[in-house]
Amino acid sequence: MSQKTKIIGLTGGIGSGKTTAVKFLEKLGFPVYYSDIRAKEIVNDDKTLKKNIIELLGSKAYDAEGNYNRKWVAEQIFNNDEKRQALNSIIHPAVKEDFEKWTAAQQKKIAFKETALLFELNLDKECYKSLLITADENIRIKRVMQRDEKTESEIKKIIEKQMPESEKQKRADFVVFNNGNEEDLKADLENILEKLN
Ligand code: ATP
Repeated sequence: MSQKTKIIGLTGGIGSGKTTAVKFLEKLGFPVYYSDIRAKEIVNDDKTLKKNIIELLGSKAYDAEGNYNRKWVAEQIFNNDEKRQALNSIIHPAVKEDFEKWTAAQQKKIAFKETALLFELNLDKECYKSLLITADENIRIKRVMQRDEKTESEIKKIIEKQMPESEKQKRADFVVFNNGNEEDLKADLENILEKLN
């Protein structure tokens, strides 16, 4: 008998550990929808979306091979809020549609949706529960500096642009403080899974 899959929206700011968390959940057998990765795929795969992007930005949005010209598009919208919003207003519904199709095909009781902008785009409203992965700012900065070739001030600038953690904590149904080691993170996630069951 098919049952409706409950979606848990998982989010967190830069370096919070959301990817580490969903990889662990995936290993446990939970299906995961990676919103940011899918958004990057469907600009190439979804023909209607492709047509709409070209209508908005022009044919240079795709290269000669028909691949999305991410760098060129980023330049076009960098200092142009109107264009950025227009582009988002065609990409976000396409991702939503793709996500709905994915959800309908799921068989498990619980699945996760990883998205950096869960609260910013009010996508938590479409989820059964929301789960925030967070960590102290100095820890996040240290981890990102170890992972990427970014300076402290570059990371701080990104953090400043994101929704404040305090705001996200208020909105989340579950909050994991990822200040310890990965084993602590896994234990906290297992606790939440028990509650969900
Ligand atoms: P971004 O939004 O920047 O993609 P993210 O939220 O997906 O970040 P991760 O990539 O999962 O974060 O974690 C950031 C870095 O910190 C990674 O290199 C990861 O391996 C490491 N990390 C995550 N959690 C822990 C932990 N508990 N202990 C040690 N290292 C950790």
